[in-house]
Amino acid sequence: MEKLLKGGLVVSGQSVQQADVLLDGQKICAVGEHLSSGKGEIIDCRGKLLFPGFIDGHTHFDLSVAGTVTADDFATGSRAALRGGTTMVVDFSAPDKGETLRHGLDLWREKAAGKAACDYGFHMTIDDWNAGISREIGEMVAEGIPTFKMYMTYPAMMIPEGDMYNALLRLKEVGGIAGVHCENSGIIDALIAKAKAEGRLSPASHPRTRPAPLEAEAISHLLRMAELADTPVIIVHLSTAAGLEEVRAARRRGQTVYVETCPHYLLLEDSVYDAPEYREAAKFVCAPPIRKKEDQEALWDALRNGEIQTVATDHCSFTLAQKDMGREDFTKIPGGLPGVETRGTLLYTAGVAAGRITLQDMCRVLCENPAKLYGCWPRKGVIAPGSDADIVVYDPAADSIITAADQVMNVDYSPYEGFRTAGSIAQVYLRGALAVDHGKILAGPDGQFIPRGKCVL
Ligand code: MN
Repeated sequence: MEKLLKGGLVVSGQSVQQADVLLDGQKICAVGEHLSSGKGEIIDCRGKLLFPGFIDGHTHFDLSVAGTVTADDFATGSRAALRGGTTMVVDFSAPDKGETLRHGLDLWREKAAGKAACDYGFHMTIDDWNAGISREIGEMVAEGIPTFKMYMTYPAMMIPEGDMYNALLRLKEVGGIAGVHCENSGIIDALIAKAKAEGRLSPASHPRTRPAPLEAEAISHLLRMAELADTPVIIVHLSTAAGLEEVRAARRRGQTVYVETCPHYLLLEDSVYDAPEYREAAKFVCAPPIRKKEDQEALWDALRNGEIQTVATDHCSFTLAQKDMGREDFTKIPGGLPGVETRGTLLYTAGVAAGRITLQDMCRVLCENPAKLYGCWPRKGVIAPGSDADIVVYDPAADSIITAADQVMNVDYSPYEGFRTAGSIAQVYLRGALAVDHGKILAGPDGQFIPRGKCVL
């Protein structure tokens, strides 16, 4: 079944040009001027922008954490993703310490299968280290999971740094790559102990116990390990200007470092934690915390000049009732923000429409770079013949207002309540099928696991 998207502006990482796009079944079969389709449906896209389906390389659906489970599972999370133009997510499979990677993979396949409405892959978490896990890393790569995650904070997830180093060497051997959560755990613990001893137990203590130098220190620490191992790494959710300086230092030494940031670090400021009402502050608790205006500006500059490669959400959603777990103690607030539904419109509004980045930049950080970095290029991330027919039709004229009442994420708040978007998503196609039409989700639970290969970024 053919579909012809006529007269839109097709966006890539390099150009914006008016072209028709012909879809045949699940694939794009032609892109060019004056295309015709005898048998297919013709969709008028004049005045619209056509992006490749957005890829979100950082989500946590159906994750048990902090004595609770994230509000979004693969069903609600993937529907919200699609509604926000995201046709593929890469979620973090997280086996517990003592479990095999295989167990983690089986568990996450089970969580996603028959539920996910968008396509998906998994990163594999390395939160334990032994000969079996070292061997399994090779098996994971062979099965289409070439990306891994390590943590430099959270005792339940951390491994000793000697083991981290050995894991980096093993990943290098098999062509895998690690994304790492960089925050100095020991000093955070000391700052938390001091805050508790002084009775400072409100959410306002959250950013004060995880200050910017502790992200920068951990990034420096990791990048020196990666220097010694002579292998690239990914800094996930970069939040500070100080951390960015450490990335620059490593790149000056000749290292390859990939960097991801998130919309909340680009749009929000740390004053959110000073709201007098508990929930107004607690709903913004995530790690790393929301930072300062200067950090925001540094991140936008780095997006514009190509120092940051991707914008992902770190979607890890909890309801306000779940956030209440920390009323007496801010360290018990489950950490994470909902975001999978709003990333594209936020980046378009605060980035493109505000003149901070170009359409090509937006396409690079949401589509092209994640596809290359996570090893699914050119199947995903580009509007070109042979690629999956994943397309976002963006209407730059249809402004809207972000509000929790309208979202399909399974949470009762939005970090961006009342935010006016420049334009909105008109349609989303997933492998050729109309998945979303003006906010109405038409897709069923037909998301596919996408096996991935090596990084080509
Ligand atoms: Mn995360």
